[in-house]
Amino acid sequence: MFRNFKTVLNMVFGRGSFNQLDDILQKKRNNTFMVFLVDDVFKESELKKRIPLMDKDYLIWVNVSDEPKTKYVDSLTKQIKDYSKLLPDGVIGIGGGSTMDLAKAVSIMLTNSGSAADYQGWDLVKNPAVYHVGIPTLAGTGSEVSRTTVLTGPTKKLGINSDYTVFDQIVLDPELIKGAPKDQRFYTGMDCYIHCIESLKGTFLNAFSKGYAEKAMDLCLSVFLDNTPDNDDNLMIASYFGGMSIAYSQVGVAHALSYGLSFVLGVHHGIGNCIAFDYLEDYYKESVYEFRRMMDKQNVTIPRNIMSNITNEQLETMINVSLVLKPVWENALGPNWEKIMTREKIRDLYLRM
Ligand code: NAD
Ligand code: ZN
Repeated sequence: MFRNFKTVLNMVFGRGSFNQLDDILQKKRNNTFMVFLVDDVFKESELKKRIPLMDKDYLIWVNVSDEPKTKYVDSLTKQIKDYSKLLPDGVIGIGGGSTMDLAKAVSIMLTNSGSAADYQGWDLVKNPAVYHVGIPTLAGTGSEVSRTTVLTGPTKKLGINSDYTVFDQIVLDPELIKGAPKDQRFYTGMDCYIHCIESLKGTFLNAFSKGYAEKAMDLCLSVFLDNTPDNDDNLMIASYFGGMSIAYSQVGVAHALSYGLSFVLGVHHGIGNCIAFDYLEDYYKESVYEFRRMMDKQNVTIPRNIMSNITNEQLETMINVSLVLKPVWENALGPNWEKIMTREKIRDLYLRM
C-alpha cells in the first residue's frame, strides 16, 4: 500500500509574511475566539505587539524548557475549556518545534476525549482537530509540515501521528528566526540535516523523498558552511523540504537513539540528534564528517560524557524507548533490523556518548 498522506492546506512564505496573519485569521473567525500559544521567550519582544489579537482571543505563553509532555497538553486543553464553553475558531502556535507541537496536540485534544497520552501512536485520533496554524520561529524540525506532534508521555516518547495532526495553515516568515541564539539555530538546523541523511540512506527511499532531501541537504550545507544573506530563507525552506522528505520515508538511527536520550535525560531533540549522530560513522560515514565540518565552521560544541552518571536501570529504559520505534529502525537497517541492532549494540552506542 502506498501512503496517502495529508499535506498542509495553505502556506505563505516570505520575509514579513507574519503581517498577513490577521487577514488569514479573519476568514476563519466565526464568532468565538482564537487561541494563540506563543513561546514565552517572546514575552518581552516586538513580536508580541504584532500578534493580531482581538477582543475575545486568548493568548497563552507556553514554556518549552522541557519538551512537550502529554500532561502539559492536557493542562493547556483544560485551561482553554475553562476559558470558554465554546470551541475556539482556531489554535495558532508561534515558536519552535516544541510550541508548534503543543498547538497541534491541543487542537486535537479540544475535540477528542481523554488524555493526549491515549493518542500516542499511529492513527488513533477519532475526531478532526480545531483549525490550527503553525508559525515557526526556529527552522529545522519540519514540524510545520509533518503529520506528527512529538510528545513525552508516562511510558514513552512518541508522536500523535494522524492526518488530523497536520496544520491547516502555515506562515513561514524567515524574519522570525533571525534572533535565535547561534547554538540553538545550529542544533535545530542539524535536525533538518539529519532528517535528510537518514531519509537518503534509508531503505524506504523513493524519488519523492530523495528530491526533497537532496535539496534540503544542499541548503543546510550552504547555510552552515557559507554565510550568504539569504541564509534564513534557505534554512526555513530546508526545514520544510526535510519534513516533506521524511513524510514519505522515515528517520533513522540518530533519531531512534535521540528519543531515548530525551526520555531519560531530558536532552532536547536537536542536541540529542547531534550527540547521537557524531557516533554514527558506521552508518552515515561521509555525512558525519560533513556534520563535523559544519559544527567547526559555526564554532558550536556538543555536550560529551553525558552518560557518566547513568544507572543500569536508566540505560535499559533508554534502550526500550529507542526500540519502540520499529518503523525507524526498519528504514535505517532494513526488514532484518532486529538481528542487526541488538540491545547490546544500542547499549554500546549509548555508553560512548
Ligand atoms: P524548541 O521549540 O524546543 O525551542 C528551543 C529553545 O529555543 C527554547 O528555549 C525556545 O524558547 C527558544 N526559541 C525558539 N524560537 C526562538 C527565537 N526565534 N529566538 C530565541 N529563542 C527561541 O526547539 P526546536 O528545535 O525547534 O524544536 C524541538 C522540538 O520539536 C522537540 O520537542 C521535538 O520533539 C520536536 N520535533 C517535532 C517534529 C515533528 O514533526 N512534529 C520533528 C522534529 C522535532
Ligand atoms: Zn528530528
